[in-house]
Amino acid sequence: MLKGEEYLDKLTKPTKIVITTHHKPDGDALGSSLGLYHWLLKKGHDVSVVLSSDFPSFLDWIPGFETLIYYTTQAELAQKSINEADIIFCLDYSALSRTNILEPIIRAAKGQKWMIDHHLDPEEFADLSYWDSKAAATAQLIYTFIADVYQDKDSIDSVIASCLYTGIMTDTGSFRFRSTTSAVHNIIANLIDAGAKNWEIHESIYNSSTENRLKFLGYCLLNRLEVIPAYNTALFSLKKEDLKLFNVSTGDTEGLVNYALSIKGIRLAGLFVDRTEIIKLSLRSIGDVPCNEICKKYFNGGGHLNASGGNSTEELENVVEKFKSILPHYKNYLT
Ligand code: 5GP
Ligand code: MN
Repeated sequence: MLKGEEYLDKLTKPTKIVITTHHKPDGDALGSSLGLYHWLLKKGHDVSVVLSSDFPSFLDWIPGFETLIYYTTQAELAQKSINEADIIFCLDYSALSRTNILEPIIRAAKGQKWMIDHHLDPEEFADLSYWDSKAAATAQLIYTFIADVYQDKDSIDSVIASCLYTGIMTDTGSFRFRSTTSAVHNIIANLIDAGAKNWEIHESIYNSSTENRLKFLGYCLLNRLEVIPAYNTALFSLKKEDLKLFNVSTGDTEGLVNYALSIKGIRLAGLFVDRTEIIKLSLRSIGDVPCNEICKKYFNGGGHLNASGGNSTEELENVVEKFKSILPHYKNYLT
C-alpha cells in the first residue's frame, strides 16, 4: 500500500539519500538496503547506507557491503549522512525504535522519511510509505517499488538482483514459509533472469559456518534444548557463559530456534539469549500460534505471526519462567 505518492517525483532529479535499516540487520535488511542503494546510484543519486551495528559474517560478501557506514565506528559520518539527507529510507522496519541508537537522529532529521516494510502495526512517522504485511520480504517490496511503482524493471541488473534475491531467500527460510506465494517465485525467476546467481548465494549463506559455530550448535542441542510436551513447545535458553565458552559473535545464534521448531509436533519454539544488558528472545511458530502477540504483550517486542522477537531486562531464568507461565493462555493454539 503506497501512501505519499505525490512525493515519488522527488527521485526524478539527483537527490541526497540515506538508507537506514533495523539494528543487527539480517539478510533482508541488508539485501533490501543494498539492492535499493545500487538502483539509486544507477539513477544518479548521492546515496549511503547507515547501520546501527554490525551484522552476521555470513553476509559479508553481499555486493556493496564495503560501502556501509557504521554508527558504532563512524558516528560523525553516520550522523552527517542522516542530517544532510533529503530522503531517509527506512527499510525492513516500521517502528523507529528498531534502529536502536539511530532513533533520535532519524527522528530529528529534516529529510523526508520513506518507509518500505512488511512488519505489522507500523508507526505513523513516514512521509511516504510502501507497506505490505503480506510481502514475504522487504526485498520483495523493493523489487515491486522499482519494477511497478517506478516502472523500471529493466534497470535491475545482476548486482541489484543478487541483493534482492538474498533478502527474499533469507526471509522466506529458502522459500519454505507460508509467505512464499507464486508471486514471490515469479519475482525470484525474474531476479535469476536478471543475473542473480542463486546457487552461489545459497552457498555463501548456508555453507559458510565455522567449525566453532557448528560445535556451538551441537552444544546447544545437547545441553540447552528443553521440550514442553504438554504445550507442544520447545526452547533454548543460552547463558552468558555459553556465549563466552564458544566466543559467540553476531549471527552465530541465527537459525538456532528453527531446530526447536523442527521437532515433530512442536508448534511454538523459543530462543532466549542472555546478551548481558538484555535478554533477547526469538519466537517461531507454525499455523496460527501468534508469536507476535506473545512478544508484544509480554516481551516488549513484536514481529510477524510466525516469527517475532522481543527483549527483557529481567534475569534469564525469570524470562523463561514467565514464558512457560504464559503457555496455558495459548492452549487452544498449541494443543
Ligand atoms: P528475530 O527472532 O530473527 O530477531 O526476529 C524475528 C522477527 O521479529 C523479525 O521480523 C523482526 O523484525 C521481529 N523482531 C525481532 N525483535 C523485535 C523487537 O524487539 N521488536 C519488534 N517489534 N520486532 C522484533
Ligand atoms: Mn524482513
